[in-house]
Amino acid sequence: PYDVLIVGGGPSGSAAAVYAARKGIRTGIATERMGGQVNDTMSIENYISVLETDGPKFSAALEGQVRHYGVDVMTQQTAAQIIPPATPGELVEVRFTNGGSLKSATVILSTGARWRNVNVPGEQEYKNAGVAYCPHCDGPLYKGKRVAVIGGGNSGVEAAIDLAGIVEHVTLLEFSSQLKADAVLVHKLESLPNVTIHTNAQTTEITGDGSKVNGIAFKDRLSGEDRHVTLAGVFVQIGLVPNTEFLKGSVELSRFGEIIVDAHGRTNIPGVFAAGDATTTPFKQIVIAAGEGAKASLAAFDYLIRMPVA
Ligand code: FAD
Repeated sequence: PYDVLIVGGGPSGSAAAVYAARKGIRTGIATERMGGQVNDTMSIENYISVLETDGPKFSAALEGQVRHYGVDVMTQQTAAQIIPPATPGELVEVRFTNGGSLKSATVILSTGARWRNVNVPGEQEYKNAGVAYCPHCDGPLYKGKRVAVIGGGNSGVEAAIDLAGIVEHVTLLEFSSQLKADAVLVHKLESLPNVTIHTNAQTTEITGDGSKVNGIAFKDRLSGEDRHVTLAGVFVQIGLVPNTEFLKGSVELSRFGEIIVDAHGRTNIPGVFAAGDATTTPFKQIVIAAGEGAKASLAAFDYLIRMPVA
C-alpha cells in the first residue's frame, strides 16, 4: 500500500505528489492523464515567476518534476469509488473503472473540474482562438477589443464586470428573461457604460473566419429575430462542473458537487484530503490549485506521523 495516493494528476495533484515524495514516503498518483486542464490551455501568463508558457509545456514540466522524485505515476486510470476505512487508521481503498484497486494510508482527491460547454457551432472549432472560459486567464488578451459573455449568473456577470475594465466593449447574453446574479452585481454591471445586456437571448453560433472568432449569433426568444454581433472573443460562463460524481455517497460534497474541505484540505473522512478545482476552495486557478495541493499533502503527512504505531 501507499502512504499517500493521489487521484488526479493536474497542478494540484502534481504539487501534492512532489511534496509527499520529498518526505521520503511511498507516493502514487493515479490519473486519467497528467497535466489536467492545463493541457487544453494555449497561453499561461499568470503562474508566478513564469512570464509566459503554454499548456503542453507546463504540463510536461509538471510530469517531469513528479517523475524526478520517483512517484509511481499511473495514467489512464479513472477512479470509480472510494471506500473509507472501516475504522479510523485503517487503509483507504480506491477502486477504478478498469476493475483495479489501490490501498493507501491517506488519499488526496484532486480530480479537478470541467467548464460546461454551450454546444453551438463554432465553440469547439474556435477554442483557444477566441472562445475562452476563464476571464482571469484570458481577459488581458482582449485588451481594446469587443467580446461577449454567455451566461447571466454570478460567474457570467462577474466576468462581464471584470472584462469591461479591460476590453473595449462587452455584450452579455442571458438565455432566460432576467439575470440570475446577485442584485449588487447586476446593479454594478448596469452602471457600466461599455456593456450591453441581452436577456431572452439564445446563442445559436460562434462565428469565425476559419482561423479565429469574428462574432456571435443569437436568437431573440421574444421577437424570434436572429441577430449577429461582431467581436473578437466569447467567454462561456455557464458553469464549472467538478469531477466528483464518483464520490457521491462517500465524501461530503457541496450542493454544487464540490468536495467540502477545511483550511487543511481535510474532507469528512479521516485520512482523505482534497485540493484544487474539485473542492470548495474559491477561485479556480493553477497557482491556487498547486498551493492547495501542497497544503493537502502536508496535512496528509501530519496525519501519517500521528498514526499509532502498529
Ligand atoms: P485539473 O487540472 O482539472 O486536473 C484534474 C485531473 O484529474 C485531470 O487530469 C483529470 O483527467 C483527472 N481526473 C478527473 N476525474 C478523475 C477520476 N475519476 N479518476 C482519475 N483521474 C481523474 N488557470 C490559470 O491559472 N491560468 C490560465 O491561463 C488558465 N487557463 C485556462 C484555460 C482553459 C482552456 C482551462 C480549461 C482552464 C484554464 N485555467 C487556467 C484553469 C486551470 O487549468 C485549473 O484551475 C487547474 O488546472 C486546476 O488544477 P487541478 O489539479 O485542480 O485540476
